[in-house]
Amino acid sequence: MANDAPWSVSKSAELYQIRGWGEPYYVAGESGQVEVHPNPNVDRKVNLFELVKDLRGRGLELPLLIRFSDILADRIKRINESFAKAIAEYNYPGVYRGVYPVKVNQQRHLVEEVVEFGRPWQFGLEAGSKPELLIALSAMQDTGGLILCNGYKDYKYIETAVLAQRFGKTVIVTLERIEELDIILKVSEQTGLRPLIGVRAKLTAKGVGRWADSAGERAKFGLTSSEIITVVDRLAERNMLDCLQLLHFHIGSQISSIIPIKNAMQEASQIFVELAKMGAGMKYLDVGGGLAVDYDGSKTDFHASKNYNIEEYANDIVYAIKEACEKSKVPCPTIVSESGRAIAAHQSVLLFEVVGTSDVVSIQLGDLQPNAHPLIKGLHETYAGIALKNVQEAWHDALQAKDEAISLFKFGYISLRDRAEVERLFWCCARKVGQQLKRMRFVPEELRDLEKILASIYYCNFSVFQSAPDCWAIDQLFPIMPIHRLDEEPTVRATLADLTCDSDGAINDFIDRDDIKHVLEVHDVKDTEPYVMGMFLNGAYQEILGDLHNLFGDTNTVHVRLSESGYHVSHVVKGDSVSEVLHYVQYAPENMVEKVRMQAERALGAGEITIPQMRLLMRNYEEGLANYTYLTVDE
Ligand SMILES: *Cc1c(COP(=O)(O)O)cnc(C)c1O
Repeated sequence: MANDAPWSVSKSAELYQIRGWGEPYYVAGESGQVEVHPNPNVDRKVNLFELVKDLRGRGLELPLLIRFSDILADRIKRINESFAKAIAEYNYPGVYRGVYPVKVNQQRHLVEEVVEFGRPWQFGLEAGSKPELLIALSAMQDTGGLILCNGYKDYKYIETAVLAQRFGKTVIVTLERIEELDIILKVSEQTGLRPLIGVRAKLTAKGVGRWADSAGERAKFGLTSSEIITVVDRLAERNMLDCLQLLHFHIGSQISSIIPIKNAMQEASQIFVELAKMGAGMKYLDVGGGLAVDYDGSKTDFHASKNYNIEEYANDIVYAIKEACEKSKVPCPTIVSESGRAIAAHQSVLLFEVVGTSDVVSIQLGDLQPNAHPLIKGLHETYAGIALKNVQEAWHDALQAKDEAISLFKFGYISLRDRAEVERLFWCCARKVGQQLKRMRFVPEELRDLEKILASIYYCNFSVFQSAPDCWAIDQLFPIMPIHRLDEEPTVRATLADLTCDSDGAINDFIDRDDIKHVLEVHDVKDTEPYVMGMFLNGAYQEILGDLHNLFGDTNTVHVRLSESGYHVSHVVKGDSVSEVLHYVQYAPENMVEKVRMQAERALGAGEITIPQMRLLMRNYEEGLANYTYLTVDE
């Protein structure tokens, strides 16, 4: 494609890497708008921009989280089919029974859908805490899926799990710490029931990247080899070795390279075989989570990506287990995996609107006044002289003039008006220097940040802390792009700022083909039309980790399902109102109204406010409490 060809949708697709991270669900449509193909097996698509309009028409304002149920169904299908294929390919004499780790996204509608869509494969649930076990027990009413119990456990947690085994469920309690063995033995004694027990092994094979410490000797969870031996011996003493049926490991989340997975599989398969040989009733090998999501679409082992696909993952797991078991003539286990991110990430997209911009691009040069301060005169000259051959020198001059103006101002030698003029001129110089850089083959180190400095700030109607906490907490990258105008060239370079008054409430890192970029290509915002952007693949972990910084609450959420006639909205979960959020922090909105009313009455009595003014204030106050916590569009 020639560079001077007119802008096109396919150029946008390439720019935002949508094929890399979006396929097969999200595509840049010919209309210039993002289209969603929630079910890749049927030829039916939803225009995301039109959907937003539609939902707004029903009073569901942005920011809006849309969950595409069909994508969730497809993810579950994909992982199950990949394992089924690998099992067939290697003639594996066993089955796959996946589980969904509830912690990844506990929202009821989503968990219910996981159970619904997972039914054909007897897909189960994994609990990482007592509350999550309670969710799993109620959600899995009549399906044959496994319920796995991980996390720190107390007596009640284990007792509940063991009792629930009695109503026809396979509930397995996995020991994460050796101390839990005593508890489980006590539960068994007190209830007279034989528990199903698993052990989590601390592997020496580590993952990579941020969650590498989930494995290895210093890992928070898991039993060392000698602790596993202790478990075996103590169970054997009580004639309970047949209760030990599952081996589990988890080497971390978002394992971007297949190599650590292969290594872990070898180590874990061998532990499995040894346990079986020692007489444990080994039936399940649970390979944990870690299956990564390609957030930047680069298909590399970069932390925001992955260098393998689900099929390769399933093949490697099935192969490693089969090889180890056959070599030792140990029966092959049921294979369990606990993929969370890979199941939940794709189905949701957060949509938000740009509500304001600030940029240095539109600052005007202005005329030079004859009696202007020498610094201002100098900057005008600098500006006029900027050319390709002297960019660096001109940039130094501009920087120096700006610094000097600030010093002079501090000692009272120049006025605020002159200081402002110097600032404006500085930005004009920076812009002109920036324009020269585009023509330079080699950009000097000190000028490389200029694009970032010159970038506009797009203020967006959402909270990073509520909707994408991992952007802030662990610098996670999510694909972000406008969902319309893709047939227009995005000429502005911007960073994003959210509504909170926290300087961390911003997004300055974006996916890029190689590494990351610090500005995003966006369109200029028109007064006549909203500019709507999407943050994609954020269905895993973000909702529950989100917090109420500045009291921005949960966003509006809808579930969209394909139907014969297009799509229908199957659930609407209204975002928090201000009142609800205030309740979380122990306020009683009714009392607040009363207190404000009394102050207004007093002001009325003193003649400081009129009756219509008071009525307006009280109406705003009461409506404010009932409304969405985010900005609302003016009527
Ligand atoms: C968090 C967690 C998972 C899910 O991991 P993903 O990387 O999201 O697939 C699975 N198992 C355990 C024990 C976990 O702690």
